[in-house]
Amino acid sequence: MTNPTVENLVIIGSGPAGYTAAIYAGRANLKPVVFEGFQAGGLPGGQLMTTTEVENFPGFPQGITGPELMDLMKAQAERWGAELYTEDVISVDLSQRPFTVRSEEREIKTHSLIIATGATAKRLGLPNEHAFWSRGISACAICDGATPIFHGAELAVIGAGDSAAEESIYLTKYGSKVNLLVRSEQMRASKAMQDRVLSNPKIHVHWNTEVVDVFGDGHMDGVKIRNNKTGEESILQARGLFYAIGHTPNTALFKEQIELDEVGYIATKHGSPETSLEGVFAAGDVQDREYRQAITAAGSGCAAALLAERWLSSNGLIQEFHQQLASAVNELETQPVAKKTEAEQAAEFDLQATRHEGGYALRKLFHESTRLLLVKYVAPGCGPCHTLKPILNKVVDEFDDKIHFIEIDIDKDRDIAENAGVTGTPTIQLFKNKELLKEVKGVKQKSEYRQLIESNL
Ligand SMILES: Cc1cc2nc3c(=O)[nH]c(=O)nc-3n(C[C@H](O)[C@H](O)[C@H](O)COP(=O)(O)OP(=O)(O)OC[C@H]3O[C@@H](n4cnc5c(N)ncnc54)[C@H](O)[C@@H]3O)c2cc1C
Repeated sequence: MTNPTVENLVIIGSGPAGYTAAIYAGRANLKPVVFEGFQAGGLPGGQLMTTTEVENFPGFPQGITGPELMDLMKAQAERWGAELYTEDVISVDLSQRPFTVRSEEREIKTHSLIIATGATAKRLGLPNEHAFWSRGISACAICDGATPIFHGAELAVIGAGDSAAEESIYLTKYGSKVNLLVRSEQMRASKAMQDRVLSNPKIHVHWNTEVVDVFGDGHMDGVKIRNNKTGEESILQARGLFYAIGHTPNTALFKEQIELDEVGYIATKHGSPETSLEGVFAAGDVQDREYRQAITAAGSGCAAALLAERWLSSNGLIQEFHQQLASAVNELETQPVAKKTEAEQAAEFDLQATRHEGGYALRKLFHESTRLLLVKYVAPGCGPCHTLKPILNKVVDEFDDKIHFIEIDIDKDRDIAENAGVTGTPTIQLFKNKELLKEVKGVKQKSEYRQLIESNL
């Protein structure tokens, strides 16, 4: 578990700041070690894994989806020799040099550190929030909006910024009406986004409105709201409530080790990623109260890597790694698949194959196979689904010929998702002999899926 060598640089975080720092440090032959994160502070790839189109990142005149952009950054970091671990850092010790960084799997000593842990979506703390989390309440419209239970239903979004605007517009694809609940008399979203919201006939904005609680019977049925001007309380029938209420900086690991500001952001020297401790740099949203954009995060990641290199060099600590360039092949790349007719699917169907996709295959295997069925429900553009893909692929490979793995796109196979009671993506269901054995929501460690399969084979 302990690695006796001392690394040049560890980077914590894999949003635009972390990957950009990794690209720069990799090109400087520092062979940076990157903890991409897993669950503690958002997804590997960061906040953009939960969005659809990114239209303001330079170089993509037609826009690019958040997960695609982050895949490209990751591939570029790998190409320059960054060593990536999809693990959460659970503690750091900055009281002694070299510094120590620990995850569940390893402990690494490092001369310098770049903190790029970004920020995490806030929750409201409603009395019934826990009971209806993933049963109507969601912090990711892009991941959960396509869920059948929301189709044609009235929905609500809470927030007033760009995320709330974007999510409301996105949800009009699925809901009959989207109620945008805004606490004050105005939105904070950019003018362009406000215009798109206010001109959309399916979005109804409720000004001066706060959420008191949610209610339902098993699944959420509605939201109790209060007008904070009049004090009047009322009921809004809504099957889904999507949070877009901002983020908290992920700095718990660093409390009392480096200086934080009163809100919890890492205090940096004005205009520079330098923190209160020499050799420790901070980049991206974790130190940025003002701009919080992908490009500013990437810019500060670049500055942090350049300063880290300068600092290592001036202290005579650099160990250079001259490596052969890896190819920029991205294991997450997917090929578009043309929709096939039922007859074509029947002709091509192979009962012995391990991997399948679509409702036809699931129905067939459900009735005809005696193997364990591992069904993965995903939605287009869902960042966590994207994260889960390589994790689950590796586990499925280990059980080749012993299980069937079927991927269902809930947008294409709505009836299947509805019958299966899927309320968000990614969701995994395990079936054997036509019986549902287990359901797992979200993204888990490989070991958890492995154990789940082994115990049900
Ligand atoms: C819905 C949405 C839409 C957006 N749209 C745009 C847009 O169109 N254009 C734009 O410029 N910006 C947009 N933003 C803002 C942009 O996503 C952020 O400014 C940017 O992602 C910040 O990058 P970052 O690298 O600082 O941190 P983040 O993207 O927040 O990444 C933080 C990283 O740190 C990791 N991490 C956290 N804790 C740990 C730990 N303990 N151990 C290991 N790793 C850890 C996380 O897993 C993650 O990888 C959007 C944000 C949201 C939420």
